[in-house]
Amino acid sequence: MQNMLTCPFCGKQPELDSYERQHVEYWTVVCLNDDCLVDVETIDFDVKEDAIAAWNKRGSLRLVK
Ligand SMILES: [Zn+2]
Repeated sequence: MQNMLTCPFCGKQPELDSYERQHVEYWTVVCLNDDCLVDVETIDFDVKEDAIAAWNKRGSLRLVK
């Protein structure tokens, strides 16, 4: 399995989560740290690797003025 980057807001390791809805399994990557000030979760993916890739995708960091 691919490694997951840490949460961009709190720096903690995220969790890979899956659930079933109408017999289809969905995957998300989510930060479950109670101290995280931002609620971070990917959208639902039906392929685990796609959820991890989405979590790991980061835009360039810069301040918007
Ligand atoms: Zn976090």
